Amino acid sequence: MTTAYAEVYDPDGTRHGIPTWPWRWAPDGLATRRQLRAMGLRPGGQEPAAQVMRLRRRTREPLVAYLYHVSLALPVRPMTPAKWAAIDVALKARRTCPQCRQVCDYVIPRSLGCCNQCHAG
Ligand SMILES: [Zn+2]
Repeated sequence: MTTAYAEVYDPDGTRHGIPTWPWRWAPDGLATRRQLRAMGLRPGGQEPAAQVMRLRRRTREPLVAYLYHVSLALPVRPMTPAKWAAIDVALKARRTCPQCRQVCDYVIPRSLGCCNQCHAG
């Protein structure tokens, strides 16, 4: 084990406060926020249980990713009808031409600032 690995290998958290493993060495049952998200879960208010750490080659500045207990994670909040409605309104606004107020079946290009018909004159 190289020195760099020894520095970030701290399963008991004596050095870093919380259990720390080298990048990709995280034990089963722990996941990063992004990994939880991929499983349809969110940390749900729990504090990071551990972390994985990697030292940048040159600066030796550590890159840290917090890990959460998968068993304590909660499902991502499901979309409510109100949320869907809000998205609907937002999408419709993006399809509405600010000049002729017509709702198009495509998103108004930012570069034009109006629908194709208005742009064509
Ligand atoms: Zn228009």
